[in-house]
Amino acid sequence: MNKIYLLLLPIMILTACNKTGEPTDLLGNSSRWKGDDVPEMTGGVLEIEGEYKTLVYNPGIFSTFDNFEFSAEVFTLPGANASILFHTNKRNLDQGYQVNIDNSDVGDWDHLLKTGSLNSIRNINYKMVDDETWFTLKIKVVENHIYISVNGYPVVDYIEPEMPFRTAQTEERKLGNGTFAIRTLFGNTGVKFRNMTVTELPASEKKKNEDPEFVRQITQLHIRLFPVVDYHVHEKGDLTLPLLMKRSASLGINYGVAANCGLKFPIETDAQLKAYRESIEGMPIFKAMQAEGREWVDMFSPELVKQFDYAFTDAMTWTNNNGTRMRLWIPEETEVGEPYDFMEQLVSQIEKVVTEPIAIYVNPTYLPAEIAQMYDELWTDERIDRVVAALKKNNVALEINSRLKLPGSRVIAKAKEAGVKFALGTNNTNSENLGRLEWALEMVELHNLQPSDMYLPGNK
Ligand SMILES: [Zn+2]
Repeated sequence: MNKIYLLLLPIMILTACNKTGEPTDLLGNSSRWKGDDVPEMTGGVLEIEGEYKTLVYNPGIFSTFDNFEFSAEVFTLPGANASILFHTNKRNLDQGYQVNIDNSDVGDWDHLLKTGSLNSIRNINYKMVDDETWFTLKIKVVENHIYISVNGYPVVDYIEPEMPFRTAQTEERKLGNGTFAIRTLFGNTGVKFRNMTVTELPASEKKKNEDPEFVRQITQLHIRLFPVVDYHVHEKGDLTLPLLMKRSASLGINYGVAANCGLKFPIETDAQLKAYRESIEGMPIFKAMQAEGREWVDMFSPELVKQFDYAFTDAMTWTNNNGTRMRLWIPEETEVGEPYDFMEQLVSQIEKVVTEPIAIYVNPTYLPAEIAQMYDELWTDERIDRVVAALKKNNVALEINSRLKLPGSRVIAKAKEAGVKFALGTNNTNSENLGRLEWALEMVELHNLQPSDMYLPGNK
């Protein structure tokens, strides 16, 4: 037996002993952290001020982390911007993955990646936690599986494919092994950590990706920093909020979950709206209001509406020139009459609807079943131009509705030309037809939509 091996033997035993499932306190010994001016740790709290600071954890010679569960409590000052790196290496911090910490308000493209994002691979665009509040961030890695939760809610559930799609800039974002690092980013004010632990986990089976082509498509969008969001999701039937969260985390599609609010809808009063808003506080979703009918503007107080990330509406519920209140998807309530006259009334309604305090016009250019076959003929250039002009004037985004396959391609082209923003949505009516934004993503590709063409809540 040579000398080197004898020297290594106790370390190898020690490393093996670490895998007993006992958590290691990463903040227990500040001399373990290396980097530019390692801050003092007071009362078990590590606070890092200023931008572009890097601290790397030294796990000890020949030690490294592969399968683990990392947990930390984090506190952000307004403006905080940082990331936790794992499977990285002090000589090459591009190696491995980065998890973002950013609790700024939504709507700022420079702060698109919120807390919980697996940076550039699975981005989180909604805000879950306020600044100046301790929250718990967990990262669990087992073989090819990365799971991230914030305050116990799932945000990322990513299975790294055998040959993951990466660009030149992201080619080292892959699992392997390594250590942890903390990096502060552009504009960081201050971020604090406490109770930071890591528990090593035993080797396990690799997980299988059910649909590698879909994973590739979604990853490409995240790498481009294209907001991968379905802004029009409903909690319906057995599709409960916990199931929606789980689904969002595993697909890599952020969800905007909307409550139906308006006359003869589940939420009709301020008290109901307030109770609903409180019930979804802190959840890993965009919090949305679907405003129904034209009466809603007077039914809910603007202060309450502002507590949602956005509100949207459609032009499917209105009263025609004969005084009939119609819901266009219900044939018994809908009087079409002469189609050209109907279209004039519809376009006027859309022009009115988009002046309401909404961010997105959804189920756009929908026609009742009776005349749906005449879509291309009835949606003349002149009518499309009127709708596009109204959207632009009122700074309202246009939904690309994946389930209804609306609006038509000519509308999308004209809206893009005019600089109208787009929001992808589904409007699922049950638990089966939520989909994965298939058609909407086809339109993104067909019309070469860029992140700058897309709506972002808070931007209105
Ligand atoms: Zn809806």
